Amino acid sequence: MSKRDYYEILGISRTATTVEIKKAYRRLAMKYHPDRNTDDSEAEEKFKEVKEAYEVLSDEQKRAAYDQFGHAGVGSGGGAGAAGAGAGFGGASFSDIFGDVFGDIFGGGGGRGPHRAYRGSDMQYNLEISLEDAVKGTTVKIRVPTQVTCEACGGTGAKKGSSPKTCPTCGGVGQVRMQQGFFIAQQTCPTCHGQGTVIDDPCTVCRGRGRVRDHKTLSVKVPPGVDTGDRIRLAGEGEMGEKGGPPGDLYVQIHVKKHPIFERDDADLRCEMPITITTAALGGELEVPTLEGKVKLKIPAGTQTGKVFRIRGKGVKPVRGGGVGDLLCQVVVETPVNLSDEQKELLQKLDESLRGGGSKHSPHSSSWLDGVKNFFKEMGF
Ligand SMILES: [Zn+2]
Ligand SMILES: [Zn+2]
Repeated sequence: MSKRDYYEILGISRTATTVEIKKAYRRLAMKYHPDRNTDDSEAEEKFKEVKEAYEVLSDEQKRAAYDQFGHAGVGSGGGAGAAGAGAGFGGASFSDIFGDVFGDIFGGGGGRGPHRAYRGSDMQYNLEISLEDAVKGTTVKIRVPTQVTCEACGGTGAKKGSSPKTCPTCGGVGQVRMQQGFFIAQQTCPTCHGQGTVIDDPCTVCRGRGRVRDHKTLSVKVPPGVDTGDRIRLAGEGEMGEKGGPPGDLYVQIHVKKHPIFERDDADLRCEMPITITTAALGGELEVPTLEGKVKLKIPAGTQTGKVFRIRGKGVKPVRGGGVGDLLCQVVVETPVNLSDEQKELLQKLDESLRGGGSKHSPHSSSWLDGVKNFFKEMGF
């Protein structure tokens, strides 16, 4: 029997990515799976063909050999199942294909054979930085917990001199077959919890886990313009994978510390600035702090408390792009306290003089008082 081309079997191009290969395999394997095509020898043949093609093309080394030498390069005369793990269809169990679906239906009980590599979990690290560092960017060294292969047992989890044994319950498959309504489902083996192996004599250093806790120091580049809630992803710096699976990612979650002067508002910075009653009344020039040093701000005469002055371009350039924001300075007129008798007298005199001008010197108060008068009148007080 002359063999068909593996790419042709999966219906993919020779440049297909691993994702495309996997997709094609899933689709065809579901279509021809024996559990769905009982007593259909043609479907069974097709299934084996698809599985064999996938086994070669999903393995980088085998794929390279096949690309160069064809079927001879991968010694694929033995037919499907030969390379498998024994039970069922050479390890390509129904739930490997439907793994995700069954995982959903049976609350994670189904799916996941012993040969499936687990990607390590993602981790999160909370990083507190100053507003200055958040605006200008910085590099921070962080120490994060990590897990490394146990040196004592070389990662097997078994005590030195011993090795893990094939699980007697599932025969190393990691799963047991269960009838669930219309489906024949696979469930994780209760004895080995899907590992396919059991350890009689666990390693005393890692207690059978094959991994031990450790710490690593990482350098985190914080780009300028980040804000609280932003995350920096360090690919591959999360927890290590299992069974050769890739590691997870580490997410550095930014928390910007409260600043004594400035408050961030997206691209803008806000600050509050006390001014004296004299500056407010007569006007003057103030020195305003910005993240790049001081700038001068002209306060016009007659400035009221609460007035916001916008200093353009002294805000933040957000990390996600967009222009530099502004610095919004809100002035607050400070009422003088701890007055001496002389100062009190001067203020009294000033007050008398101001009253002499009628509503001219305090238009807000005058219009407010008029409003109150009208209100009382309408209410009949
Ligand atoms: Zn088992
Ligand atoms: Zn160990």
